[in-house]
Amino acid sequence: MGKLLKAGLAAGGTVAAARLLRRAFRSEPRYAPWEKPPYRDFPNKVLIAGGGFAGYTVARDLCELTRDREDVGVMVISRENFLTFWPMVPEVIANDIDAQNIAQPLRRSLIRAGASFRRAEVESVDFDRRCVRAGGQEFPYDHLVLALGGQPNFFGIPGVEEHSLTMKGLSDAMRIRNRMIERFEEATLARGDVPDSRLTFVIIGGGATGVETAAQLHSLVHHALAPDYPNINPHRVRIILIEAADEILQELDPALRRVARAKLVERRIEVLTKTAAQEVTGDRVILNNGDVIRSENVIWTAGGRPNAKLRDLDLPLTKLDGVIVDRYLRVQDRENVWALGDCAAIPGRDGKYVPPTAQAATQEGHVLARNILAAIDGAGELEEFEYRPLGQLVELGANFAVNEVMGVKFSGLLAALFWRAVYLTKLKSPQNRLRVVLDWVLHAFYRPATTQIRGLG
Ligand SMILES: Cc1cc2nc3c(=O)[nH]c(=O)nc-3n(C[C@H](O)[C@H](O)[C@H](O)COP(=O)(O)OP(=O)(O)OC[C@H]3O[C@@H](n4cnc5c(N)ncnc54)[C@H](O)[C@@H]3O)c2cc1C
Repeated sequence: MGKLLKAGLAAGGTVAAARLLRRAFRSEPRYAPWEKPPYRDFPNKVLIAGGGFAGYTVARDLCELTRDREDVGVMVISRENFLTFWPMVPEVIANDIDAQNIAQPLRRSLIRAGASFRRAEVESVDFDRRCVRAGGQEFPYDHLVLALGGQPNFFGIPGVEEHSLTMKGLSDAMRIRNRMIERFEEATLARGDVPDSRLTFVIIGGGATGVETAAQLHSLVHHALAPDYPNINPHRVRIILIEAADEILQELDPALRRVARAKLVERRIEVLTKTAAQEVTGDRVILNNGDVIRSENVIWTAGGRPNAKLRDLDLPLTKLDGVIVDRYLRVQDRENVWALGDCAAIPGRDGKYVPPTAQAATQEGHVLARNILAAIDGAGELEEFEYRPLGQLVELGANFAVNEVMGVKFSGLLAALFWRAVYLTKLKSPQNRLRVVLDWVLHAFYRPATTQIRGLG
């Protein structure tokens, strides 16, 4: 009885302490839900199309900057009601992280900040009437922010779009994971009697996403699946990474590229550089040197481009469909329209466009929020955007990374821990942060589950 009472008191105490802590750290929402004025009633309506890194940052910053004002209303319209935390998406393949934990709830965060949110697909913009059509409804704006992101670019290579899996979303990562599990199930059922092409995975594109995908597939096969499928020799699974340039990870220092390549090769991941895919069919990849790789599992990570939807919106676009903006992020020839992130072609000081990264999109978002406010107030100069790259971090599985941070290059386990620490702090939602830490801690002790929820892949 005494023990029961002690346990009860301890549990009660823990819950009370957790509640107190939660109250202490929780910021008050700007409006109680029933007090929030409708977006349409604000004299300055800022409509943000796209709730990714770029759109979310503009919205949060604008809400913060206008916290004590009642004249600026912010609304975000986005296709999904969550923000995908892209840097951790490859980890979903090996199940090191549960996909749900890096889909950060947009609605909750924006509503608390004082913005409005609608989950809808942007269809068209009427620049004369200043309104956007999305989900069959019209939304007025005084300032419009285009932050619609990007999509894969297949460069017109025959068969790629039809026959390959992409890595442009959480569902894509789950599809790739499910495909590998499916192949193991098939091979077990057939007692290993399946053609090699079924167990060959070709990743096209040796940039950060391709390298991380290859490393995660290796981890899925050797750490998660192999013990559960004793009839399959995991070394029968070939993982081949192909890259058209001289080396993988072009964005990194050459020494780090070599370290990364050596690590992949050590894990028996085949790395083919100066090799491009010329055609992809249902069971093979035809290379530019005439060689053929028999594979029924092709993953395309070789290129991105701005969202093709932009073509329908009567905007000034570059050849690659990036919205043309000036250094203040104003869209050319469109009054009170701004663009940023992967969908915009932003001129950098070096004469090149700012690269499409989450890092850049976030920095652009901070500047754009200040510029919109300056435009609303008609006061002060607009700020020029200047990209300040902080570095590149590439994770090759749970305990190895290659990092370049402000000129400092390092790799190995320490780099992997650094990778995790950095990205953890960048996750916006504290709840997601905690869940990701729990995923990592759990998988340090237990093998990730190999369950296959069918319907994807
Ligand atoms: C697998 C992967 C890993 C990556 N890892 C890194 C990394 O480690 N570090 C890094 O700096 N960058 C990384 N990137 C790049 C980074 O994710 C992008 O540069 C960044 O997300 C760009 O932000 P954005 O807001 O412009 O686009 P996104 O984040 O893609 O957001 C675009 C938003 O627009 C919405 N949208 C699109 N079309 C419509 C429509 N018609 N109507 C309504 N809403 C729409 C989408 O749903 C989405 O919410 C990675 C990319 C990928 C694919």
